[in-house]
Amino acid sequence: MFLVSTAITIGLGHSIGMHRVLIHRSFKTPRLVEYLLVWLGCLVGMAGPRGMIHTHDLRNWAQRQSACHPYFAHRYSFWDDAWKQMNCRIELASAPAFVLEERVARDPVYRWLEASWRWHQLGVAIVFFLIGGWSWVFWGVCLRVAVSLAGHWAVGHVAHRHGHQGWRVEGAAVQGYNWPLFAWITFGESWHANHHAFPGSARLGVEPGQCDPGWRVLQTMQRLGLASDLVTPQSLPHRDAVARVDPLKPHKSSEVSHA
Ligand SMILES: [Zn+2]
Ligand SMILES: [Zn+2]
Repeated sequence: MFLVSTAITIGLGHSIGMHRVLIHRSFKTPRLVEYLLVWLGCLVGMAGPRGMIHTHDLRNWAQRQSACHPYFAHRYSFWDDAWKQMNCRIELASAPAFVLEERVARDPVYRWLEASWRWHQLGVAIVFFLIGGWSWVFWGVCLRVAVSLAGHWAVGHVAHRHGHQGWRVEGAAVQGYNWPLFAWITFGESWHANHHAFPGSARLGVEPGQCDPGWRVLQTMQRLGLASDLVTPQSLPHRDAVARVDPLKPHKSSEVSHA
């Protein structure tokens, strides 16, 4: 119950729905399929469509500057970062303007989802309760949401501090790092150095041998006519700031504190 519901919400919902299509528009899919994927992403329990885009854009913007606040860079030590990222809110004195793209801002389904996403979990819990009682609610809602949120933070923490990189983004205060260990359970999201180098790519495990279950799902969707125009690093415009580095050599963020 836990594994299946987590795989569906994290894999189809968070990775493919929220991240690869809603945020990065890295492939095309019929509108109804997109709604379904984003709805599954809401069930992860992190935020609605607008909230997810905002959080992602703000962190992206902060990490690409020449200097970055420790909150956005995951530079606090493990427990401190866990506490701050999962329980606190950052308020910037002069935050960059956030303008949501028209396509999402004007969409009535996304507006409705943004206003009601928390309550959808309750609907799921009721259905689970009717089918399998409290044990289904515990495994399929409570534990799933807790593990998804903690796991999302933990992968974000390590993937911005050290690991292997095939590429680095010159001039950016924060680098992404690849964590092969987590590739399966994150549906490929842990190839984070690749994502920093090619944010618009629907494929995250881009080098030979890098498993990317989310990409496999997208290829299957493409075969079924449910996805098209899948973006890969090859189809993205060249970025001067992206430099190739030795993928076999571990790298470390220069400002990481291990206190
Ligand atoms: Zn990142
Ligand atoms: Zn992203």
